[in-house]
Formats: sequence, structure tokens, C-alpha cells
Amino acid sequence: MIIRINNAEVYQPTAAGQQDVLVAGALVAAIGNDLGIAGDLVAQVDATGCLVVPGFVDSLAHIIGGGGEGGFRTRTSEMNVADPIRAGVTTLVGVLGTDAVTRTLTNLLAKARAFDEEGLTCYCHTGSYQIPARTLFNDVMEDLVLVDKFIGVGEVAIADHRSSQPTLDELKKLAAQARVGGMLAGKSGIVSVHVGSAPQGVEQLMQVAAQSDLPITQFYPTHINRNQRLLTQGFEYVAKGGYIDFTTSTTPHDLAGGEIKCSEALAQAVALGVNIANITFSSDANASLPMFDEHNNFIGLGEGRIASLYEEFVDSVKLGVPLATALSVITSNPARILKLPSKGKISAGGDADLVLLDAKDLTIRAVMARGVWLYSDGTLTDIKARFAPA
Ligand code: ZN
Repeated sequence: MIIRINNAEVYQPTAAGQQDVLVAGALVAAIGNDLGIAGDLVAQVDATGCLVVPGFVDSLAHIIGGGGEGGFRTRTSEMNVADPIRAGVTTLVGVLGTDAVTRTLTNLLAKARAFDEEGLTCYCHTGSYQIPARTLFNDVMEDLVLVDKFIGVGEVAIADHRSSQPTLDELKKLAAQARVGGMLAGKSGIVSVHVGSAPQGVEQLMQVAAQSDLPITQFYPTHINRNQRLLTQGFEYVAKGGYIDFTTSTTPHDLAGGEIKCSEALAQAVALGVNIANITFSSDANASLPMFDEHNNFIGLGEGRIASLYEEFVDSVKLGVPLATALSVITSNPARILKLPSKGKISAGGDADLVLLDAKDLTIRAVMARGVWLYSDGTLTDIKARFAPA
């Protein structure tokens, strides 16, 4: 099938002006104004009044659910494929969470494959919150080399009362294994790091980079918008060359407790001249958002939502962040950091993962993943799932 999307304002995510986008099979074949292709085999789509942007890349989502911090009844639900599709997410990375006992890597892999069958592109990280890392084979290096879907390790918890309280040496060894595994398999091998609310923040990661041959870019710390102290430390971390990720799922309690909305954190970064290329948003979808009192006693639970990724992008634009900049943190930046060269951008030869946004209010009008329309004007158009709602 050849699809020609005409008269759209294209963001690659950098602004490319009004162009036509030609999709052949699962790939973008060409972008231009005079593509010179028509006929019965070309499906014409008039995208007047729309922006065409890359499908969103969510670098951290609990696709099989998570939680359990308040007992078994607080385990969160598995993600329904309709959720990422409606939210414009076409690429996502699934991870385990606090519970790597009843949530397993085998389950994670099966869910990722289910999402692929539905038309999305889903990867996973091996490992777990805790060190020693949960693995399928002997260690994370073997997992990265032998299992296609594993592209990194994590989320590994630091600075958190739920972490395994890893030592510097444990973090170094894990990162070293991930690095070589990634090299051997031609993957990012990145270590996704859950940063909790303890005051040391990302200090351990800076120490590993300073005291070893590992580059600071080996780590990908998330939840950096947890409070202003961590956010400020995160900006210093970026100045050293590191990557940081903000979590778009928040609850009113989080905000009362000092959490900073992603859009506001990004606006701060832009105002301070922080290198935005090293900043991403992720949803933390289907994670439990456990609330603890000042003594770390569990007091309640929320649940992460994947739609928050898109919502915080829109809120960033409302706060005055340039559209291409706001887009980059949910498209090209995570794709580059995760070494997914065909994702997160619109370019000839790249995957045809596209989102059509209404130019007036940025409403999601349509979503295409690997050349197939999965969503259009409120309707899921190509759901194959037995259990998904129509
Ligand atoms: Zn986390």
C-alpha cells in the first residue's frame, strides 16, 4: 500500500514546512512538494489543517503493570493496547518495577510481542529495581546479546527506600555488563535508573562516571522532576553530559509533595539554557504511584497513564516551549538515546510512525504505526486484539 499524506505542516520534529509525506509499506518513502506519484494504488489523504509529527517514543512504561507497595491488592493492571494508540505512542519500552518477584521478564517479553502484533514497536529492558539484576540468562550481558527485544537494563533503583541500596561497585559492574552487551548486540545497552526521593539523588551515577572508564551517558536516570532539588541536580548532571528523563504521570499528591509537572520542568530547562537534546519525557504508565508519608509509610496509590506523555507535550507548548523542542523530548531525543535510528523522526527510509495533530489545538486526529492507520478521529481502526474495546 502506498499512502500520500498531502498538505500537512511537517515537523520531523524540526519544522519542515508544508510538505507531502509518502508512505510505502511500513516506511516513509519520501517527503517533498512535488513527489510526482499518483494513480489507483496511491491512497490520498488530505491533511490540510494538520501537523504531521513523528509517533511518540515512550522510554519507560510498565506494560505488564507494577505496584504492590501496599500489598497484593495494590498491584496495578496490565496496559491495554488501546491506551498507547490513542495517546500517539508508537514505540515504547517496557520495564519491571518494584516487584520483580511476581512480575517477570518472560511476561514482559510476551506483552511486548503482543504490542508488536498489534502494530506498535515495543522493546524491553532486562534487569530489575534490585541488584543482583533479574535476568533470563546468566547475566545482563547475555540477555542483551541473546534476546532481540532487550535493549537496555532497568529500571534500577537508587536513592530510594525501595531500592536494594546498591553500592558504587554494584552499579559499576552492572553498567559495565550492560555496556559490553549493548556493544556486542549493536544496541544502546543503556542503564535506566529509577531515582527516588533520598537527598543524594543522582550522586552515585556521577561518582561511577568519575571513578571508572564508563561514560556518564551509560545511565538514563528517570523521575528527575520528582522535586526541585533533584531537578536542579539533574540540570547539573546534563551539564556534565548526562541524560535525564522526566516522568509525565503525576498525581495531585505528587504535586503537593513537591513534584514538578514535566511541562514546567522543561520550561525551566529552556529558560536556563540547559541542553534539551539530553532531556526526555516518559510516561511511567501503569506504574503504581504510591504515596508515602514523611516516615515512608504507605498512605495510598495512584496509577500512571500513558496519555500523560502527550498531555505534558501540549502543556509545554502552552507554557511557551517551541513546538519542535517540546516534540523532541517525546520523539527524537529518546530514540537517539535508545539507539533506535528508524524511530522518533520523519525521514525517508525511517519507519512510518506518524501522528496527525490538529494545527489549532494539537488534538490527536490520527495515528499511523509502521505504515498502518491505527487510530483516526476517535476510532481505533486496526485493532486486532481479542479483548481490546472497539
Ligand atoms: Zn521508577
